[in-house]
Amino acid sequence: MSFLPTLSCKYCSQPIWLPFPSPDETSQRQIPWPQDGMPRNFLCLLCMRACEYSPEDVQWRSVQSPDQVGLNKGMAVHRVSLPCGTDKCAGLVHILVVMRGEAQYQEASSFVGRIYAMNIACERGHRMSGPSMGYGKYGFARDTGWPE
Ligand SMILES: [Zn+2]
Ligand SMILES: [Zn+2]
Repeated sequence: MSFLPTLSCKYCSQPIWLPFPSPDETSQRQIPWPQDGMPRNFLCLLCMRACEYSPEDVQWRSVQSPDQVGLNKGMAVHRVSLPCGTDKCAGLVHILVVMRGEAQYQEASSFVGRIYAMNIACERGHRMSGPSMGYGKYGFARDTGWPE
């Protein structure tokens, strides 16, 4: 049996699996999260809602089937960056998505236009909610600070 850290989607309650399997319970005390401990916006690919999560939101789930672990193998946390646009703000809204490690820029275009913001903040603190984020240009990169 393995354990995978998850976030429970704040909108549809489905798990967002974080691709950091742990073979035992002792290492579960280490919550995989970037060191600053700051909240991060994660996208649920089932309901397309982007919500804000903190390290406290991480829950370990036991995974019975090796398939589930296999599915998460090779996945990585990616970051889609969109212009905030509030009052001509030049800041970006960063939204994290768990995708294949080799995912390319173009793959994000299949969902970027359907992201629905649920009270998430840009890097300068503007809060936003609503559909049709990510209209136009976006940035795409592997997010840093997560376990390798
Ligand atoms: Zn969801
Ligand atoms: Zn802003």
